[in-house]
Amino acid sequence: MSRRQEIAVGVADVRRRIEAGCTAVGRDPATVTLVAVAKTFPTMDIRILADLGVTEIGENRDQEARAKAAELADLALRWHFVGRLQRNKSRSVARYAAVVHSLDRPELVSGLDAAAGAAGRRVTGLVQVALADAAGRGGVPPAGVLALAGRVAAAEHLELGGVMAVAPLGADPGPAFARLADSAAEVRAAHPDAVIISAGMSSDLEAALAHGATHVRVGSAVFGVRPDSLR
Ligand SMILES: *Cc1c(COP(=O)(O)O)cnc(C)c1O
Repeated sequence: MSRRQEIAVGVADVRRRIEAGCTAVGRDPATVTLVAVAKTFPTMDIRILADLGVTEIGENRDQEARAKAAELADLALRWHFVGRLQRNKSRSVARYAAVVHSLDRPELVSGLDAAAGAAGRRVTGLVQVALADAAGRGGVPPAGVLALAGRVAAAEHLELGGVMAVAPLGADPGPAFARLADSAAEVRAAHPDAVIISAGMSSDLEAALAHGATHVRVGSAVFGVRPDSLR
């Protein structure tokens, strides 16, 4: 099978899963955005994806994302930064990212805001929510989500998009995604336009869709197993 065929099969399979996952809970699949997480995969794979109509691309490391965004500047892609972000990378990330999924502390919000202003861009920011047992995976505890969301909403060059989470490893993701849905509702009550719920990966996207995910971040189910499977 050619690489193009492999990726086409992966995309079709993920699209089928999104459709089935939505149908199972009475949702419209058209309300769900597939963000293809391309970390460790080459730019040629992203060109193939774009040709297949998938243009929302996720990355988790600035150095890699920045290089790929530059190399693929001829394509109309939207870059999603989904990894842990250090404040000193904000300047770089603000130049290419349309959406940053991992805002989890005030200094990151102010750093990204200043960087977006310097780049002359508006960047959508999601508040990453820490779910139980997901220690070390980033995020603000649920009790702090609304306050941080308020900072994003008030930032001059940022748009508050909503919330994001990574499910705890090795546990039933359902209860965790249910807590994320609660945080999302709390944020939406104060900021009605902040409708994004970024949740669900290759292994748990159905559970995320059942709890309202609007953006699923899928890597290996689209591209195949990563050489470095910890990322
Ligand atoms: C790698 C990654 C994904 C995609 O993971 P898969 O299991 O390959 O689908 C999603 N979200 C984040 C934050 C990631 O780092």
